Amino acid sequence: MLSNISELLAHALALELEASERYTDLAELMEVHNNYDVARLFRKMADIEKLHVGHIRELTKRHRVQNLPDVSYRWIAPDGPESTDPIDLHYLMTPWQALKLALVNEQRAHAYYAGIATSTRDEETRRLAQELAGEEAEHVGMVKNWMAKYPEPEADWDHDDDPPFLQD
Ligand code: ZN
Repeated sequence: MLSNISELLAHALALELEASERYTDLAELMEVHNNYDVARLFRKMADIEKLHVGHIRELTKRHRVQNLPDVSYRWIAPDGPESTDPIDLHYLMTPWQALKLALVNEQRAHAYYAGIATSTRDEETRRLAQELAGEEAEHVGMVKNWMAKYPEPEADWDHDDDPPFLQD
């Protein structure tokens, strides 16, 4: 349970930084696949998460938190944190799969903040966690809207008749 605002800020900073980096990765990946629509969405999401990073940094200053606890945060693959390489961005990843990866992590971020909001006894921490949970809920909605535009891939999506030339 998070008992104070600086812990929440540290976690939020790690979470938002990771999200903005992952969205940038996903945007680049979609550009490689010439899917500029989805790439644009991911760039937009990366920008939104970057704004959040700025917001969290601002709050850190406002609360005069000198040293944020060192926290690391990583996205997980849709099949869970068990996978050894959580963000193996397969070169054949379809928009649907990229969006699914984003969805899972947005839902996770939402659940994380919402969990703090309900469990913390610190009123200020609770309020900020609630605000952040609300933002993540919006992201979940945005990603879901996009997923509705892209069908779930066939079971053999990773079969490639003409694999790209690999340099060694
Ligand atoms: Zn988000």
